[in-house]
Amino acid sequence: MDLYEYQGKAYLARFGVPVSPGGVADSGDEVAALAEELGFPVVVKAQVLTGGRGKAGGVKLAGDREEAKRCAEAMLGTDIRGHTVRRVWVEHATDIAREYYASFTLDRSAKAHLAMVSAKGGVEIEQVAEEDPTAIARLHIDPYFGFSEAQAEALVRQAGLDQEARAGAAEVLAKLYRCFVEGDADLVEVNPLVLATDGRVHALDAKVTLDDNAAFRHPEWAEFAGTEELDERERHAKSYGLQYVGLDGFVGIIANGAGLAMSTCDVVNQVGGKPANFLDIGGGASAEVMARALEVISSDKSVRSIFVNIFGGITRGEEVANGIVTALGRVDIKVPMVIRLDGTNAELGRDILRSVESSTVISAPTMMGAARTAVELAGGK
Ligand code: GDP
Ligand code: MN
Repeated sequence: MDLYEYQGKAYLARFGVPVSPGGVADSGDEVAALAEELGFPVVVKAQVLTGGRGKAGGVKLAGDREEAKRCAEAMLGTDIRGHTVRRVWVEHATDIAREYYASFTLDRSAKAHLAMVSAKGGVEIEQVAEEDPTAIARLHIDPYFGFSEAQAEALVRQAGLDQEARAGAAEVLAKLYRCFVEGDADLVEVNPLVLATDGRVHALDAKVTLDDNAAFRHPEWAEFAGTEELDERERHAKSYGLQYVGLDGFVGIIANGAGLAMSTCDVVNQVGGKPANFLDIGGGASAEVMARALEVISSDKSVRSIFVNIFGGITRGEEVANGIVTALGRVDIKVPMVIRLDGTNAELGRDILRSVESSTVISAPTMMGAARTAVELAGGK
């Protein structure tokens, strides 16, 4: 789960990472009142799950109440890199001396945590990596031993942080690492980490991705739930507990298993179609789950055909087929549907499907063939 900046900052603050005091609001008047409390100048920041807000007009300094209100009203409701601004964060503005970069993430191939620090902050790190890769100091951390004070100090020195910022930055790094590990994050990124003119080092931005698999030991994460940017289809699917991701194509996809669902998307692309979604219905494929999946997909107006791709393993083909037949009786499907059923007892399953086959409900034995038919029935590209 990706956190908004205001949530990320609250999370970092829990581990002692210094951030500017501020508040979140969704109207110009609230922003004006908050700004008054915080003291001018303030910075008004669009809360959207994307970086590069600064360049896109989503970060503005305001010197008085009227200006803060105007900035907020100009941002609220607008679109920043494809994300609608529903809330803004207001904080007391910092007088910046230098902007740095710091992050902790998981390096799966190295089976270690990876720390990255750079004296070139404020710009996207991908850009720094491309233009001046030596400007990023990296350190692999053995999760068993953790991240020591000496390592933090060496890292800020290696990254070339200004002398007066080093002690403060090393302290922030230690806290960030605690947040990353104890806070069960997959990523904590602070860009920029700033040295203010008063000599303090603190986080001016926060990008935090929590590891959803650790949610069971963080009841406090409930406060972040429901704030994710979901589209209508994803909200619908989520209410049914389905593993669904909305995409922008026109072939609706239902598969069992995440791997097969991804391959199904690939095959649809390969034969010239575009998947409208990723949907993994898991192992069972019961009538109930199948009906819910079909309901979500057929309510998507851009879906022009549906491709159901099921490989029977522990779940046998005839059970899946019975599930599909029952689901078809419950959900009114208006677009053509192609079903590929393979694996355990596939023959038996296909026999059962014969009762529902028609010119718009087609059973196809191979994945590639089924994908082609689904794309054709959708009317091509
Ligand atoms: P991003 O563009 O989405 O990464 O948003 P950031 O929160 O990183 O802000 C972008 C830029 O706005 C920063 O790199 C700073 O240069 C500037 N900025 C943000 N907050 C402040 C502030 O309190 N004071 C000043 N002077 N500049 C700020
Ligand atoms: Mn930033």
